[in-house]
Amino acid sequence: MNFILPKALAALLLRTVKGSSRFLLVEPIHNSDELEFGKFGVRAEQLRSLHLLGFPVPDGLFFSLDQVAELPKNICSLLKGEIANLSGLYSLRTSAGQKHWGGVEAVLNIGISDDYVKEIAPKIGLRNALDLYRRFICSFSILVNDLEPEIFENLYYDQMRLLNVEDEQSLDERALNLIVKESKSEFDRLTGFKFPQLLTEQIDMVFHAMAQSWYRPSAKILRKARGAPDNAGTGLILQRMVLGIGKALSGSGKCSPIDQASGKPFLHGFFLPNSQGKDATMGLRTPHMFSEAQKRKEQQSSSSLEDLNNTCFEKIKEILAESQTKLGDVFDFEFTIEENRVFILDSSKAERSPRASVAVAVDLARSGTISKEEALLKINPDNLIEFLHPQIDPSADRDIFGNGLPASPGAACGKIVFSSVAANQLSAKGEAAILVRVETTPEDIRGMHASVGVLTERGGMTSHAAVVARGLGLPCVVGAHDLTMNLSEGTITTRDGRIFREGDVITVDGTLGQALVGCTKMLQPKISGEFSKLMEWADEFRTLGVRANADTPQEATLAQSFGVDGIGLCRTEHMFFEQDRLIVMREMILAKSEAARKNALRRLLPMQREDFIKLFRIMLGSPVTIRLLDPPLHEFLPHSEDEMRLIAASMNVPLSDVVERSKDLKEFNPMLGKRGVRLGVTMPEIYEMQAQAIFEASMEINNGREDTVTPEIMIPLVSVTKEVELIKNRIKNVAKNIESVSNSLIKYKLGVVVETPRAALRAGDISASSDFLSFGTNDLTQMTYGLSRDDAGRFMQDYLERLVFPHDPFHSLDVEGVGELLLLASQRAIQSNSSIELGLCGEHGGDPVSIRFCKCANFDYVSCSPYRVPIARLAAAQASIGQSKKSRDKSKS
Ligand code: PEP
Ligand code: MG
Repeated sequence: MNFILPKALAALLLRTVKGSSRFLLVEPIHNSDELEFGKFGVRAEQLRSLHLLGFPVPDGLFFSLDQVAELPKNICSLLKGEIANLSGLYSLRTSAGQKHWGGVEAVLNIGISDDYVKEIAPKIGLRNALDLYRRFICSFSILVNDLEPEIFENLYYDQMRLLNVEDEQSLDERALNLIVKESKSEFDRLTGFKFPQLLTEQIDMVFHAMAQSWYRPSAKILRKARGAPDNAGTGLILQRMVLGIGKALSGSGKCSPIDQASGKPFLHGFFLPNSQGKDATMGLRTPHMFSEAQKRKEQQSSSSLEDLNNTCFEKIKEILAESQTKLGDVFDFEFTIEENRVFILDSSKAERSPRASVAVAVDLARSGTISKEEALLKINPDNLIEFLHPQIDPSADRDIFGNGLPASPGAACGKIVFSSVAANQLSAKGEAAILVRVETTPEDIRGMHASVGVLTERGGMTSHAAVVARGLGLPCVVGAHDLTMNLSEGTITTRDGRIFREGDVITVDGTLGQALVGCTKMLQPKISGEFSKLMEWADEFRTLGVRANADTPQEATLAQSFGVDGIGLCRTEHMFFEQDRLIVMREMILAKSEAARKNALRRLLPMQREDFIKLFRIMLGSPVTIRLLDPPLHEFLPHSEDEMRLIAASMNVPLSDVVERSKDLKEFNPMLGKRGVRLGVTMPEIYEMQAQAIFEASMEINNGREDTVTPEIMIPLVSVTKEVELIKNRIKNVAKNIESVSNSLIKYKLGVVVETPRAALRAGDISASSDFLSFGTNDLTQMTYGLSRDDAGRFMQDYLERLVFPHDPFHSLDVEGVGELLLLASQRAIQSNSSIELGLCGEHGGDPVSIRFCKCANFDYVSCSPYRVPIARLAAAQASIGQSKKSRDKSKS
């Protein structure tokens, strides 16, 4: 059995708390400055910090996770000397790695017995002493002996009925005495034992029962659902009771120094006289407010602790302020007042919304309490999503057709789709999809990724749709019971009989929980106030560039408003899905001869040029990386006979020709077929047209300007250097031709998307002929695993649940496998071309963990969706701060 400390060391390291009797609070163990909270749990760590600050924390003893895991039945005799002289009342509480993992409730008043009731009766009154005894017998019996709570509740309510009283306060000494007696004899009868009267006996039994119940399978499942690892343990804290019951002002309460929503200073909480533990939150009596300001804000007429006892209130206020300056954060406190003396029982970081967490961090840094780096490290980058949602313009008219729960904030407008497949198809065309389901399941995750909003008929705030949508930052309304969704027929029917079908445009308002007809007017999010300050600080510290994946002027403008450094990926195929272009694109694809293809490309050229002019104008002074056409051509093919007829008419060829050519172009495995650079090599005119459009657009924009745009042209799906050389020569010729006609010089960069494992392995020679490499980690993950990115959703959830994958490698980079390829590639690339620029443009570019990896791998930038730009800026700053801290630590040691 491991003790907290070997006896000799304990003598050195245990220190008597000022004014306390014999009982001890464990001081830092070994030579460490900090208590290893991994060893004792987070509550123990926090109590220790408060004690060291000199706050009035009742004396206590911490038991380590290891010690509790051994489920000792006789902890007191194991602790021998330390515990032999105990007297009075104690509480026992869990202290796990995270508070929200839950656990057994604290057991209070351990040590109460027939004799002890008599001992404290003069201090707190016999009635109160008996009531504590009654409650202890009840909680002890339930926890230690698994007795039913009803047994004790019935005894209690029987007395209340007998005396014809309605509230607990009306039960007098006599009645409580009777309940205690009956409770004890029920205990004796049901267990076959006498109710234990010795303090050490009670501690032993409660300790063992608490340790045991932490490891029950049901508790494990619950914890796991709250994010605890399988092997999560708990420490235990034995602490002297402060009773909260007495003749002078006594009671218990909770307080917080900030408003949870805004993070701005606001003293609030509650206080219940003559109470302890959870009494104040049980609703049996109405607690007082904490402060007068709270009373005014909440327009309550009841009194406040500030009013009842200003000295105690001021003392707590002082503690709140001091903890903030000394511990560098804002804390909520659980406190007990015993006869006008304040004690702190527990504290944790003040609850706050993501918005409030930014306000608090910035305020703390502005006041000099913490540094800018510490402020930046306090924010979970993913939480910034809350700032980044468009909202419905308050002045807009709302045609509401459904109401549900506001599961994930923000608003989005798009076309109704009833399946993930349809969502993916629509988004591949660059259109916005609203995924409508009765309820979502894990198979829908990929559909949710491809959608801009989600609406479900069933589900609550913690349903699958709600949880996933919040994680993805998607506006989401769940539980819209006034709608009937018929997925097989593809309809939504409203209470008033209106019917909506696939393709109809609707708006989802996840902030208010409404579904609206059509596209409602939106207000785009803005970076302002504390958020803007935080971003400014992030830019001071980050060295990793953050670019956006943006194909349209709208996306580029949004990315600019989020402080982007440039465009890291413009997927040019998205520019061809608009109806008028699609038809020309299809003509180009279906063309039988080079001449016919060139004719279609001539018509596409001005459209492309115009697209690039628009993008360059928005991105003046910043790099714009344009990827040449990538997808398999069959993605552009007409599907229905109607579409084929239309294209045949436009090309002036028989329908059979179109049908035949479409068949010809079908591939067994298009994602590994004729796509990316393979199109460029076999149909070079396409890339030539795109290069011409890029160069002409840049010339037009850069004409006589200083803040010019340098286009960066990117070749997709390369696997051998020869492909790069072929395309490079073609593009060079296009540039030369334009230069000789215009008599001016064209500046551009040429790079490669490294997204096949072979390209990663051959990054050395590929980089010799490239200005930059951008890692396309979506395809690279797909090809490294041999796992279709479009079908992985079918089994991903099973894989995650069975811990086959620790996370979805399409969302967060697989550092071990794909990461190794990235490292290898970046090392080889830098070795062969020291000026090579390295970026990452897969979905992982917006994932904080992957961003940290990119920083460690010496990348120059990441590129992500516009909405994730601020998240990436913060994550990049955190990565830089983390890296310099690590190297500081290294040089110290
Ligand atoms: C990639 O493969 O990582 C990439 C950025 O390209 P896409 O997602 O368009 O295939
Ligand atoms: Mg790709």
